[in-house]
Amino acid sequence: FFIVFEGMDGVGKTTQVQLLAESLQKKGWAVTVTREPGGTPAGERIRGLLLDPALAGLTPLAEVLLYAAARAEHVARKIIPHLEAGRVVISDRFVDSTLAYQGYGRGLDLPTLSGINRLAAGSLVPALTVLLDMPVEEALARLPARADRLERESGVFFQRVRRGFLELRLRDPQRYLLLDGRLPPLELHARILRVVEERLK
Ligand code: C5P
Ligand code: MG
Repeated sequence: FFIVFEGMDGVGKTTQVQLLAESLQKKGWAVTVTREPGGTPAGERIRGLLLDPALAGLTPLAEVLLYAAARAEHVARKIIPHLEAGRVVISDRFVDSTLAYQGYGRGLDLPTLSGINRLAAGSLVPALTVLLDMPVEEALARLPARADRLERESGVFFQRVRRGFLELRLRDPQRYLLLDGRLPPLELHARILRVVEERLK
């Protein structure tokens, strides 16, 4: 069972991923927590490149191909094997982040990005995507001061990213759980857990 958390920076994905993993583990599930970009040794090295302020001038195409390289490795060497072993895999970001950030955010062609995503992820589709949403100003205000290269983007950029995620959800609303990231963390967690347990039955 493959669960993905999506949403812009600062909405609380990482916290909710951890809370969900702990609750499922307590209930006896074997859980793998992972993230994109990252999740494998090569993927974490690529993440380091992507977040490096020294690479501020990276072209959007080079950037998207690095995300794709990390994802290809992640899907083949971690997500698929762990799913096949019967584990619940929870990923902090997946293909929708590419469409929202590099597509809606940076203006790369969405069909081209979908092709790249398909190349990297094959036919793997999350069973459930938890989309956390909140106004951009509030999300950015929640980020720690030491923002990485990508978190220093403008508010306008993140407005496009936010709209992107919300539009992506409309392609397949059944597969998404859209929640307000401003809810208290434990309330948010309870709502997510309820839906996940329902789908795991
Ligand atoms: O959310 P997380 O900290 O894992 O993401 C790392 C950084 O990569 C964030 O600043 C996020 O904005 C950026 N990112 C991106 N495009 C993606 C995925 C993440 O710009 N496709
Ligand atoms: Mg971040």
